[in-house]
Amino acid sequence: MIMNLQQIRSDFPILSRTVYGKPLVYLDNGATTQKPRCVVESIVDEYYSVNANVHRGVHFLSQKATELHESSRETVRRFINARSTNEIVFTRGTTESINLLVSSFGEALMQEGDEVILSVMEHHSNIVPWQLLAGRKGIKLRVIPMNDRGELLLDEYEKLFTPRTRMVGITQISNVLGTVNPVGEMIATAHAHNIPVVIDAAQSIPHIAVDVQQLDADFLVFSAHKVYGPTGVGVLYGKETWLDRLPPYQGGGEMIRHVSFEHTTFNELPFKFEAGTPDYIGTTGLAKALDYVTAIGIDHIAAYEHGLTDYATRRLQEIPHIRIFGEAARKGSVISFLVGNIHHFDMGTLLDRLGIAVRTGHHCAQPLMQRLGIEGTVRASFALYNTREEIDALVAGIERVSKMFS
Ligand code: PLP
Repeated sequence: MIMNLQQIRSDFPILSRTVYGKPLVYLDNGATTQKPRCVVESIVDEYYSVNANVHRGVHFLSQKATELHESSRETVRRFINARSTNEIVFTRGTTESINLLVSSFGEALMQEGDEVILSVMEHHSNIVPWQLLAGRKGIKLRVIPMNDRGELLLDEYEKLFTPRTRMVGITQISNVLGTVNPVGEMIATAHAHNIPVVIDAAQSIPHIAVDVQQLDADFLVFSAHKVYGPTGVGVLYGKETWLDRLPPYQGGGEMIRHVSFEHTTFNELPFKFEAGTPDYIGTTGLAKALDYVTAIGIDHIAAYEHGLTDYATRRLQEIPHIRIFGEAARKGSVISFLVGNIHHFDMGTLLDRLGIAVRTGHHCAQPLMQRLGIEGTVRASFALYNTREEIDALVAGIERVSKMFS
């Protein structure tokens, strides 16, 4: 199927709204994506016609809701090519998935003095949970550096492994630089040292095919809302052999098999990690979103967005005094930049007045900002519904703001 952009845009009602009387140009997809009608309708439909708590009821609606929830797990499994639905744990999002992993893995399998290797371009959600663990357990963080183009230094990465290394955590696509990291290769390196790897796929899952078996990822995390799904739902993928070894994260209903005041036995995978009522309506929304992406074809999306990002890069480079951060050989659909001495916040605020939504600031990657020697950037991030006309509007907007400051 060739992408029909007009059809796709009409699937997203919000794209036809105006902001300050101007057509909305939504270029903040790295923060969250807009939702197609089919996702929103699936949520409304389920509330109106199926709603009942899952896994517990013998009655009709509960069974229907459970079927929907578990079929969503199967949709996720298929989308990332996991071996089994036992490997798909539903969470509230990428952040909770990483916290779950760090907490359970750290609790069971790390001791004082053990080390985790992270890249310099991690989002705070793949740094701070490890730091909290460091505070509790005395583990150490070691950091993979990058070159000035924003590519990780693989030779340096290799040197970071020591007998105390217990885990590697890498983002597949940087939310600031757009760098697509060679995670397959980096996983192979870690496995040569018998070390598992967690891949932060928050920025990759909407844009490129992610196959956990092909990557041989031990763990992989992402959020529904960044892939056209609802907020409040995410996924922790883990190889069954690893998840079996990890203790539960939170205690409560759903995650137990038997409870007495003396002793509790835990439920099987993946329910061991899913305490309490899950967001079963949200998981339906996530499955709908993944079906939507699959119907268009992730490879078509990747090719389209690649062309769009190339075009945007070329057009932005025409702007005097622009600095683009992130010039890796392989880039996703994210462009961070600064123009002359214009503060990123001023640029973002004035673009907003023209109806153009971009993100400004440190993008939850302050260690990376430190490495770049800046406080923040303006970030334009694209999705499957963005157009070249919108890029032109962005460039015209930047030029207009630049003139005001010159
Ligand atoms: N990791 C990366 C690379 C991200 O870009 C983000 C969000 O921007 C996150 C993690 C956190 O995602 P969430 O806020 O959905 O948990």
